[in-house]
Amino acid sequence: ATAARTSLKVGLIPGDGIGREVIPAAKAALLALGSDIPKPEFVDLLAGFELFTRTGTALPEETIRVLEEECDCALFGAVSSPTRRVAGYSSPIVALRKKLDLYANVRPVVSVAANPEDKPSVDLVVVRENTECLYVKQEELTIGEHGKEARAIRLITERASRRIGQMAFEIALGRPRKHLTIIHKSNVLSTTDGLFRETVRGVPSLPGVNGKYDGVEVAEQIVDSAVYRLFREPQIYDVMVAPNLYGDIISDAAAALVGSLGLVPSVNAGDKFVMGEPVHGSAPDILGQGIANPLASIRSAALMLRHLGYTKGADRIDKAVDEVIREGKVLTPDLGGKSGTKEVVDEVVKRI
Ligand code: ATP
Ligand code: MG
Repeated sequence: ATAARTSLKVGLIPGDGIGREVIPAAKAALLALGSDIPKPEFVDLLAGFELFTRTGTALPEETIRVLEEECDCALFGAVSSPTRRVAGYSSPIVALRKKLDLYANVRPVVSVAANPEDKPSVDLVVVRENTECLYVKQEELTIGEHGKEARAIRLITERASRRIGQMAFEIALGRPRKHLTIIHKSNVLSTTDGLFRETVRGVPSLPGVNGKYDGVEVAEQIVDSAVYRLFREPQIYDVMVAPNLYGDIISDAAAALVGSLGLVPSVNAGDKFVMGEPVHGSAPDILGQGIANPLASIRSAALMLRHLGYTKGADRIDKAVDEVIREGKVLTPDLGGKSGTKEVVDEVVKRI
C-alpha cells in the first residue's frame, strides 16, 4: 500500500517523561530524508499518565480517532508506569496496541562494529507477541485458608500464536541468515507454551504457504537457557519469537548487550498499522536535563519506515546513527559521552 502515497501522515504521541524529549528527534530525522519518503506530515496527539493525573483520561478518544482515520503510522515516546495500582488508570500503550490490533512487538538489537565492514557481534530481532499471555491482566486476590492468594490467567491462543509466528517467519525470511528460534517453556507449561510452540512450528505447513518458508531454519529453546545463551553467545541468534512475557524480558536483556536502553528501537506492528516506540521508558531520573539519548527514538522512526516498505529512507537513518556511534565524539552520557540530546540530534540530521 506504499505506492500510492504522496504524503505520509505520522501521529506523534510523546507521552510522559523523556518521551517528550526524544520524539522531536525522530521527527527531525524523518524531515531530513527529503524525497526518499513521501512528504511527512505530523499530527501531535495526547496520551500518558501525566495527562491522566491532569484530566482523568490517559488515552483520549480523539487520539484513537485521529490515528485510526487519518494516520498512516505513528511514533510513541514513553509512558511512566505508576508503581502502585491507581484507580481508573490503565496503560495507554496497552490500550493502543489493542485498539489498533498491533499484535507484534518487533525489536532489533544490533551492536555497532568498530569498522563498517565488520560484522556486528550482536545482530538479532526479538519478535514478541503483544496481545495476550499474562498481560491479559486477569488477576484476582482471594483469601484462602493460609492468607492471601493471588492468581493470574495466562492466555495463549492458536490465532495469536499463528499470526506472530507468521510475522516471525516473514522477518526471518528477509534476513541474510534466515534463522528462527522459538522461545518457550513447554517442558513445564506444556498446555500454554506447548500450544505456542506447536502453532509457530506449524506455520510453514499452513495452507497457502506453499514452501515459502522452506529456507528458514527453525530452532527452539527453553526460555531460561535462552537468556543464559543470549548473554554467553548472542551471535547464535538471528530472529527470536516468544510469547508476551518472555519476549518482554528477553528484549530488555538483549538491549543490555548493546550498551544502553537508549539505543534500542521497536515497532508495534499489525496488519494495518505500525507504531514506532523506543524500548526505554520515561526515565524520570534524567528528565529535564537535556541528556536523554535520542538514538532509540530515531531508530524507531527508521524501523517504522522499514515496516512500511521505505527501505532506502530507513537505511539512511540507520547509517547516520551507526556513524555517530562509531565515531564516538557526539554521544549522550549513557554511552559515556558528554553531549546533550540536541547535539546528538543535530549530528545525526547533518549526516542524513
Ligand atoms: P518507566 O516506568 O517509564 O519504565 P523506568 O524508571 O523504568 O521508567 P526506563 O526509562 O525504563 O526507566 O530506564 C531505565 C534506566 O535507563 C534509567 O536509569 C534511565 O535513565 C536509563 N535510560 C532509559 N532511557 C534512556 C535514554 N533514552 N537515554 C539515557 N538513559 C536512558
Ligand atoms: Mg522501565
